[in-house]
Amino acid sequence: MKAIVYSKALYSTWIYYAPDRILFDCGEGVSSFLENKVFAIKHVFLSHGHADHISGLMGLINIRNNAMGDTEKELRVYYPEGSYFVSELIRYFGRTNRDLQYDLEWVPVQPGDRVHLLEGRHARFIEAFPTVHSRSEPSLGYNVAEVRRRLKPEFRDLKQGDIVRLVREGKKEEITEEYVQFLFSFGGDSVPLHPHHVRGTEVLCHEATFLADEDRKEYKHATVLEAIEVALKAGVQKELWILHLSSRYRRDMALVEKDIEKMKLPFRVRLIPPGELVEIE
Ligand SMILES: [Zn+2]
Ligand SMILES: [Zn+2]
Repeated sequence: MKAIVYSKALYSTWIYYAPDRILFDCGEGVSSFLENKVFAIKHVFLSHGHADHISGLMGLINIRNNAMGDTEKELRVYYPEGSYFVSELIRYFGRTNRDLQYDLEWVPVQPGDRVHLLEGRHARFIEAFPTVHSRSEPSLGYNVAEVRRRLKPEFRDLKQGDIVRLVREGKKEEITEEYVQFLFSFGGDSVPLHPHHVRGTEVLCHEATFLADEDRKEYKHATVLEAIEVALKAGVQKELWILHLSSRYRRDMALVEKDIEKMKLPFRVRLIPPGELVEIE
């Protein structure tokens, strides 16, 4: 799965998720790092309105209008409904960017809202879920979800040949059921996520601003151990990405990685070092 991630607590966080051309959060530096790739972005999903998650919007919106690329391609920005900071930005952009060549749409989102990405047999959508971060600023996480089909439990012991026969007889609907698989879950800034909200996801992006609980003054962010606990409880299938680490821990990354290795976790853990651009293939 292709993605480009940059995250340093307090400064800037953003993730370009290539499979669905989504930018999750938009901290400063997005457009100067992505350059012409900014034209690939279809949707921006903002977790909340703190500066380190929205300060790249001014660059992104202007570069999409002025650089070499499809300057008429529309851009949708989704944000938690009721965000004071984002609402003020929308007013600002409305006044200062009257001559945009493309449609810029701001879409408020509430927990549980769905945004359709792909229709058809393997329909995909984004579903917003609640997170707990700041008292004054609403915050959300987002799941990229895909609709799939599987055999109903009572048919799971059938032999391959029998399944093929039943499908040929037109009984596919009868023997299978639809289910929703989360492919990628982005928690934004939050205290430990509720595992239920990201259950069974393939890749979980969980913030961990702190290595040690003692470093946390206010209960607004998570620690590395808490992020791992959430991933275990949620049954993460492939990878846990730990981001939003404080730059005070820059030199500790190798040690933390070793400690995590010793835990023999059932998924791969990627620590996103604070202040480094990480390209994931
Ligand atoms: Zn932040
Ligand atoms: Zn924040």
